[in-house]
Amino acid sequence: MEHCFACETDYGYLGGSPHRGTCPACGSPAVTPAGELSVVETTAWESANGLSTIHVSATDTSARRFEFVIAARRGRGELVCLAIDGVEVPTDAMCSVPSAVAATVSAHGIGISEGASPHGPQ
Ligand SMILES: [Zn+2]
Repeated sequence: MEHCFACETDYGYLGGSPHRGTCPACGSPAVTPAGELSVVETTAWESANGLSTIHVSATDTSARRFEFVIAARRGRGELVCLAIDGVEVPTDAMCSVPSAVAATVSAHGIGISEGASPHGPQ
């Protein structure tokens, strides 16, 4: 299921190739990733109180840039911030962290909490 963060439309993309990276309803580029994300940069830092923050930059097949910020404590992480092409979008609309990002975060010893998703597993 694709989701537009600008106009809040959920739409199913049907087709063999990745979608175009823009919302068909409003033309906004603030939609869920097209195709596979590839991680281009990861920054992780840990504060003295045991809270870790991991910043993952990735691009999708339409060359949009996704910035994920994951906050973690005791090895459990949660998506706290997401920006698409520099536009911050609500993280609660993202059903789950893309697998490429989850794999990068788990390389730092942190598992992503899935939380209660109204959309269920994909
Ligand atoms: Zn839209």
